[in-house]
Amino acid sequence: MTSLIGKTLLIATHNEGKRAEFAELIAPFGVTVKSMADFDLPVPEETGTTFEQNALIKAKAGADATGLPSLADDSGLCVDALGGEPGIYTADWAEKEDGGRDFGLAMQKVEHLLIEKGATDPKNRKAQFVATLCLCNGDSDPVYFRGEAPGTLVWPPRGEQGFGYDPVFLPDGHDITFGEMPASTKHGWKQGEGDGLSHRARAFAMFARACLAAA
Ligand code: IMP
Repeated sequence: MTSLIGKTLLIATHNEGKRAEFAELIAPFGVTVKSMADFDLPVPEETGTTFEQNALIKAKAGADATGLPSLADDSGLCVDALGGEPGIYTADWAEKEDGGRDFGLAMQKVEHLLIEKGATDPKNRKAQFVATLCLCNGDSDPVYFRGEAPGTLVWPPRGEQGFGYDPVFLPDGHDITFGEMPASTKHGWKQGEGDGLSHRARAFAMFARACLAAA
């Protein structure tokens, strides 16, 4: 696959939390990063039924509008006891009537459903964060990279760091939530030091091996 080193890469997201995480992950590689906000591009409608389909919609919209190689991520929280929900609808569960988002309410909704199912024991509260990256680059076929982070949901929420559902997600092997970790621990990934902790860092590590290696 062609290396992106020395090129400009569009991060096809309107989510500031994700943009910031990608910018931090890409920083060591000598790639110039632009975001959808730099081009004032509209938010494409996510009409897919899988993480892969929605990542493709976003990456393709960015590539078509700018002509740049375009990387998009579709991600979400899949809760075992809820049959994998909210899954691709993770952001939608935070939607308020005025169109804004409230992740405090979204976390409460997940907790409410878990309690309804009697899922109070940590072993019944397993979940995975999933991130699928899609790269659209010129005429090449789209390429996908999927990362998963297994963990357990806790209540009440803990920590002020990160974004979204981070305060209720305790990654396997750790005793603090994503919301209590500095970004460097959540990513946990540096060149040559394994694939990291978060779903996005794990997907990014695959992307980096394929597209950010010196040519
Ligand atoms: P989408 O990929 O833009 O459809 O949004 C996925 C949603 O999943 C985000 O709005 C977050 O609420 C949630 N999410 C994805 N990754 C993370 C993460 O690393 N921490 C917390 N929440 C996340």
